[in-house]
Formats: sequence, C-alpha cells, structure tokens
Amino acid sequence: MKRVFLLGDPVAHSISPPMHNAAFHALSLGWNYEPLHTPREGLQATVARLRTEECAGANVTMPHKEAVIEFLDALSVSARQVGAVNTIVKRAGRLIGANTDVYGFAQALRRARVQVRGQHAVILGAGGAARAAVCALAAAGIARVTIVNRTAARAEALAADLRRRFPRLGLDVNGTDALTRADTFAPLSASLIVNATGVGMSPRTHESPLPRGAIFPRGAVAFDLVYRPLRTRFLREAERAGALGVEGIDMLVFQGAAAFRLWTGRDAPVDVMFAAARNALGGV
Ligand code: NAP
Repeated sequence: MKRVFLLGDPVAHSISPPMHNAAFHALSLGWNYEPLHTPREGLQATVARLRTEECAGANVTMPHKEAVIEFLDALSVSARQVGAVNTIVKRAGRLIGANTDVYGFAQALRRARVQVRGQHAVILGAGGAARAAVCALAAAGIARVTIVNRTAARAEALAADLRRRFPRLGLDVNGTDALTRADTFAPLSASLIVNATGVGMSPRTHESPLPRGAIFPRGAVAFDLVYRPLRTRFLREAERAGALGVEGIDMLVFQGAAAFRLWTGRDAPVDVMFAAARNALGGV
C-alpha cells in the first residue's frame, strides 16, 4: 500500500485526508493519505522520513510551505515561480517540490467561466495565497493587480518581488482605507476581488476583510479563498451587491486534484473530491 502524507502544524482539522482518501478509494488504488503533525523543529526529520517510507509524496501546509524548500532535491516551475511548495512528489527516490495552488486558483476561475485577460483585480492579503493568486492571474493575462494588505510593508515587499517576476503586469499597492473612498479607489474598475486573508474563517465568521462602508464594484466577481465556512460573510455581502461569488472550496479541490495527478499519474475524480470535501466541512 502506498502512502501520502500531510506535513503541517496544525493538521488535525484538515479536510485533505477525507478528500484524498475518497479519491484513492474511488479509483480502487488502495492508497492512504495521512496527516503527520510536524512542528517547525521536526520538519527536516519528517522530510527525511519521506525518503525511506514507501510513499508517493506529501502535501505541505502552514507554516512550512516556504521552509520545506531547502530540504528538497528539485522544484517544479510553479514552485519556483511562487517560492512555495504545497506538494512533494517522490520520483526515483528524489523529492520534487511543486505548487498546485496556482493551478487550483486558475481552475476555480475557469470553472466559474471568469475571464481575466486584460482585466483589473484587487487582492486582499499579501501572504502565500495572495502570491499564488497573482501568479495565476499573471499567467492568465490580467492587465493590472492592486494588492491591499493590513501590513503595508508586506504588501510592498510582495509587489516588488512580483514586479521582478512579471515586468509587464501593472502592480500597485493600496491601504485598506482606500476601499471606502470612491474618489481615489481604483478598485471600482476591478472586475475581480479576491480575499486571500484568513479573515472570516471559522470561528470568526462574523468578520469580513472589507472595511465597513467598502464600495463593491458593480458586476465584479468575488473569490474568497477561505473555505471554512463555505459561505463567508465576504461572499454573502458581495453577492448582495450583485457580484458573482466563487467559493474557496473550488481552489482547494482543484489544487488537490492536481496533486493527486502528480502522485498517481491518474486523472483525479473531481466530483468525488468535491463531495468528500463538502461532507468534511459539514455541508455548510
Ligand atoms: P499567510 O501567508 O499567513 O497570510 C495571511 C494574510 O492574511 C496576510 O496578508 C495577513 O495580513 C492577512 N490577515 C490575517 N489576519 C488578518 C486580520 N485580522 N486582518 C487583516 N488581515 C489579516 O496565509 P496564506 O497561506 O496566504 O492563507 C491565507 C488564507 O487563504 C487562509 O484563510 C487560507 O486558509 C486560505 N487558503 C486557501 C486555499 C484554498 O485552496 N482555498 C489555499 C491556500 C490558502 P498581514 O500581512 O497584515 O499579517
């Protein structure tokens, strides 16, 4: 029996184990996906264990997506581009780091039939998820991205790095207060607003990443990367303002489907994975 591990801290409440085990079962692979609680100081030893175990690889989640890189043998193009690894694939004894978050984000937009070429997006947040979102949008030909983050210095640092990677992309940084100012707020021209912060996540479901009085661009798409709960306050309010909502579970399932293909070489049973993920989230 082959195994796949999930390295992170915490991992106990992850929905990746039920999602991937349902997919392994649906294809009668007899594989098993197991959470492996990995504190920061145990990361190197846990990665070393992947080399000796009979396993196909692993997923990597917070807080190790960047730190794990130094323990791997090679990186895929996507992992190099994002500077973070969420999937490890074992090939001929070598551990290759990949990033399927970029694909997951892009595929969620494709599923919702959202076209971004030549458009303007606002990204709320400046962490790893925001970086993956911008990489996906740049690859899809978006014209302009505005990064809005609580900590301005982090947004500036991310923008500076992304400008080097995507010199043709228009990238600017705005403070959260700008979201309420119709006179100066360029996002009124945005066709996509992405919540790439953890704000609104259970148990703080009453919170929204948008400040009180924020102006939501008419007809825009609202994509919340938070998936617990499925229906966040951000999504509910955006839809009330006339936006099309895209749920974080879509990115979660599609990044999982891409990882599944890397480990098994088989197309993932995406419908099975959606059903298992929704079930694990309590169908909310
Ligand atoms: P991260 O690297 O830790 O970044 C967190 C971001 O959220 C930072 O920009 C941070 O702002 C902001 N933030 C956190 N608390 C905040 C608050 N109270 N008010 C305002 N801003 C706040 O985390 P990440 O990996 O990017 O993940 C971000 C979110 O995306 C999480 O909810 C995660 O679950 C979700 N995600 C979903 C998927 C999916 O497949 N759907 C994949 C990846 C991530 P500061 O810089 O000011 O601290």
